[in-house]
Amino acid sequence: THFGYEQVPVGEKRQRVAGVFTSVAAKYDLMNDLMSLGIHRVWKRFTIDLAGVRPGEKVLDVAGGTGDLTREFAKAAGPKGQVILSDINAAMLGEGRKRLVDHGLVQVPAVQANAECLPFADDSFDCITIGFGLRNVTDKDAALRSMTRCLKPGGRLLVMEFSKPQSSLLSKVYDEYSFKLLPLMGRLVARDEDSYRYLAESIRMHPDQATLKGMMENAGLARVQVYNLSGGIVAVHRGFKL
Ligand code: SAM
Repeated sequence: THFGYEQVPVGEKRQRVAGVFTSVAAKYDLMNDLMSLGIHRVWKRFTIDLAGVRPGEKVLDVAGGTGDLTREFAKAAGPKGQVILSDINAAMLGEGRKRLVDHGLVQVPAVQANAECLPFADDSFDCITIGFGLRNVTDKDAALRSMTRCLKPGGRLLVMEFSKPQSSLLSKVYDEYSFKLLPLMGRLVARDEDSYRYLAESIRMHPDQATLKGMMENAGLARVQVYNLSGGIVAVHRGFKL
């Protein structure tokens, strides 16, 4: 079935996610552009604007991968601020680090960390983001609690993730696209059909807008708002720690 991965044991999911990102790391940016027809740049721009990072702020980008969000946060926080790129996967983190250095952002640390148990002190960041990362995390509630713990009171968490298309027509077109075209593109461009099939499946299993909002509230966040992008293909959730 499309949902076959749901049944795999927890340790196996962890390994599978590690394998997927190690195998796609080098081609990751190219594939993002191809698969989303470049639209991921618009989604990320929206999230960056909504995060509203100001000079001097402390920002943590969880599951930051190749660092698209981190880079913009580092520019916005400026020399008085501090921005950290973190990811569980060493290969992705390595690509991210390379790209940051290419952009002259040598002051941005890259920390290998699991979102479920972040190695940072309580109340230490003004803003934490996780972009297209939460669906890969095994224990999402633990990750939401861990990120909330690391936020300063008044700080904000932004979760950008694939979500549920709001119309049934869009939903059908999108299903065709992601279960047929996506694995094909994965095979042709990255020579890795399975990783892109995993991607389509992980998107289907991710909690929808309302469910994720409830999970964020359970983790202790308040004033959670949901922003649907591209008809709900992607949603950005923002909540505040009181
Ligand atoms: N945020 C980047 C972006 O938007 O381009 C990268 C997103 S990429 C699709 C997902 C990332 O989540 C991968 O780099 C993967 O290694 C990371 N990841 C998966 N499970 C994780 C976990 N438990 N903790 C932290 N990062 C994780």
